[in-house]
Amino acid sequence: MTPVVVIGAGIAGLACARRLADAGVSVVILDKGRGIGGRVATRRAAGLQFDHGAQYVTAEGARFAAVLQELSQKGAVALWADGSGRSHLVGTPGMSALPKALGAGLEVRQNALVTGLTAVAGGWTLRVGDSDLAAERVVITVPAPQVAGLLGAVHPLVAPLAGVRIAPCLTLMAAVRRPAPFVTRKDAGDPLSWIAQDSQKPGRPGGEATAWVAQVSTAFSEAHLEKTPAEIVALMLPLLLDRLGASPDAVTHAEAHRWRYARVTTPLGKPFLRSADDSLYLGGDWCIGPRVEAAWASGTAIAEDLLAQ
Ligand SMILES: Cc1cc2nc3c(=O)[nH]c(=O)nc-3n(C[C@H](O)[C@H](O)[C@H](O)COP(=O)(O)OP(=O)(O)OC[C@H]3O[C@@H](n4cnc5c(N)ncnc54)[C@H](O)[C@@H]3O)c2cc1C
Repeated sequence: MTPVVVIGAGIAGLACARRLADAGVSVVILDKGRGIGGRVATRRAAGLQFDHGAQYVTAEGARFAAVLQELSQKGAVALWADGSGRSHLVGTPGMSALPKALGAGLEVRQNALVTGLTAVAGGWTLRVGDSDLAAERVVITVPAPQVAGLLGAVHPLVAPLAGVRIAPCLTLMAAVRRPAPFVTRKDAGDPLSWIAQDSQKPGRPGGEATAWVAQVSTAFSEAHLEKTPAEIVALMLPLLLDRLGASPDAVTHAEAHRWRYARVTTPLGKPFLRSADDSLYLGGDWCIGPRVEAAWASGTAIAEDLLAQ
């Protein structure tokens, strides 16, 4: 049996596994995706790259500030001036550098979709693709609304998740051949509530076209959540071109991403949940709040609780 299996290689899962591995605990991380980082993600296309998930990272607490300081010394994050007089830490050469640095040296199995868990003597059996994996302890860090799909709706740890809310976010990535009129534009009253010139972040590839990432408001995202990526591009691209003062023939690339669970609006209010027999933990940003730091804090708190036992 693997001593600890973590489901999810987002920031919460990586932080948990990092803390455990540093303490000498054998841990395996499983993620359904091709990369690691979950919602801290970078996509490459048209010779450019786009941070289509988290835009930047902030630290309110001293512990996460120290983590970011260490990542900065390794060159995995750097300051970015957003054009409005504010500076933020971003991953370099992309936001995905942050989870990659956090996960360096950890055993992460990618393309490993977990479809269910069964309690057995001394631990758990996880269904992973077409095979089973045995674990003494399991840490689940998937978004709260997806937990019931793994544990079953009647599991005692599912009921406390009923109040957790996570809003969606539709995101557009576009390459546009036109001088950039601004670095970022934030307007809560605009359907296009956030626009960022990704090419301007440190370490990004340059080219004839500029890489833009745009997000629509929660209301707009909810109204159009079930549209296809092509339909989302058709909705969002004209809005972006209007804000940039550009014409459709300036566009060299456009694609959309639907984050069904993007930003926590009502968190659980405590850093994690634990089963009565201590063999199962639930964590993620949704425990604390809508930020990378919250995911890190939840994952770290789980690891420290496990180590305390
Ligand atoms: C568009 C957008 C913009 C954002 N902007 C910011 C920002 O500027 N600053 C900020 O601090 N935060 C921002 N956030 C929030 C931040 O990205 C999240 O709070 C944080 O990344 C969540 O980390 P997590 O580990 O809790 O969850 P996730 O990153 O969602 O990780 C969960 C992981 O579980 C995996 N998984 C799910 N189900 C399974 C399964 N059945 N089997 C195996 N693996 C599975 C997923 O593939 C994923 O990798 C933004 C988020 C979005 C979407």
